[in-house]
Amino acid sequence: MKQNFIAGKWVDTAHSVKSINPSNLEETIGIYAQGGKEDVDQAVNAAQKAQKSWAETSIQARSDFLDRVGNVLMERSESIGRMLSRDEGKTLVEGIGETVRAAQIMKYFAGEALRIKGVHLPSVRPGIDVEIHREPVGVIGVITPWNFPIAIPVWKIAPALAYGNSVVFKPAELVPACAWILVDILRECGLPEGVVNLVMGKGSEVGQAMIDHEGIQAVSFTGSVVTGREIAKSCAALGKKVQCEMGGKNPLIVLKDADLKAAVNGAINGAFFSTGQRCTASSRILVEDQIYDSFSEQFIQSMNQLTVGDALDSETKIGPVIDDRQLKIDLDYIALAKQEGCEVIGGAYMEEKNHKKGYYLHPVTFLKAKNQMRIAQEEIFGPCAALLKVSDFEDAIEQANDIKFGLSAGIYTNDLTKARAFKKRSRAGMVMVNQPTAGVDPHAPFGGIKSSSYGAREQGFAAIEFYTNMKTAYIG
Ligand code: ADP
Repeated sequence: MKQNFIAGKWVDTAHSVKSINPSNLEETIGIYAQGGKEDVDQAVNAAQKAQKSWAETSIQARSDFLDRVGNVLMERSESIGRMLSRDEGKTLVEGIGETVRAAQIMKYFAGEALRIKGVHLPSVRPGIDVEIHREPVGVIGVITPWNFPIAIPVWKIAPALAYGNSVVFKPAELVPACAWILVDILRECGLPEGVVNLVMGKGSEVGQAMIDHEGIQAVSFTGSVVTGREIAKSCAALGKKVQCEMGGKNPLIVLKDADLKAAVNGAINGAFFSTGQRCTASSRILVEDQIYDSFSEQFIQSMNQLTVGDALDSETKIGPVIDDRQLKIDLDYIALAKQEGCEVIGGAYMEEKNHKKGYYLHPVTFLKAKNQMRIAQEEIFGPCAALLKVSDFEDAIEQANDIKFGLSAGIYTNDLTKARAFKKRSRAGMVMVNQPTAGVDPHAPFGGIKSSSYGAREQGFAAIEFYTNMKTAYIG
């Protein structure tokens, strides 16, 4: 059994879970510990003890540590990527790409650890200096989802450590493999005892215990809207800092003047890559009336060429759905699309591919979708794209914004005036011009508005807001 890691030691638990390969349901990836409330108590205790000396460790030592971890992630990106693909089901190219991304984020924050700035202000009173510093928050609770099993943990843990915090980390139950590997690499690179503690287990037990624990000062969460909202509420009641990245239902507008080939490629990538299991997926594609038919035809043609299969097969472009629960959600929405009056193309479920049982779902397009339909408003998190018709740019913007989410939004156009208007009027945290809605840089702030995000932005220079507190000093 792969154990939890608390106070610098691997720790047994009474319960464990099997992690299964979604490309081959007969293959067990490993047996992983399932902790409980007592493990959280011990982890928080260890993190509290470790935090002060970690915060006092020189910024050079913290930077060097993160840099070493980044190097190891990069060197092992092939093997970690392979494990990621087996555990989560994204293709090997995507699995390796995500691991490289995690390494880059580590290295970015290795640099940021050396760039913690303060501000000096003259006082309004003579003979006094005013200085504003950044201080660590304390113990950070990190709760992560299954769709990016190494990048999301890293983009929370790296800034937490860079700015002098300690961490209690609970990965998603479905994908413990990369979380375990990451923590083992931290250990191997010289992580001081208690600075990062891994408590694998259920959200309702381990996650909830972390939220409720008074020794955790801040919680960084990525996951569903329902859970995120509850977490934000509980944290507010306890006066904790909280940051929630939640769902998306991202619009991608295609105007009649767009480069059609580029638009089709961008839409295919945004809608279906990573099996559509990205919060930035392009799940509502709003196409101008005059090109709706030609766009749809090319889009469906490209969709039908995407090979669905074992995440590790080199010809696979779309890996399996993560598990049976998500598969049922996807299939239910496909059935709903028909009921709501869409023409449904694709979406066949294959129980088996090349003699391997897996959650194989062919990508699906919902033609003739309308903005009020549930399939155009609710996040599905599967390889499902709704194609909506819009009469012009104004109509496109209006429909794109007419949704409770606001994570990412995109447009394909060659009209500079419309591109600029879109950038300005789009009600989303991230806007893309002639780019898919998914696929972001590791050094730029990430996050949304409306129901998509709550709290300070993640990543890049923005991460310091969440992972530090400000102190204002008056020196007379
Ligand atoms: P999904 O439906 O995609 O699994 P969730 O929001 O349920 O998304 O899960 C995201 C993360 O939040 C996972 O690590 C999960 O274990 C955790 N989680 C779920 N419920 C709770 C809870 N009540 N308190 C804290 N964490 C939770």
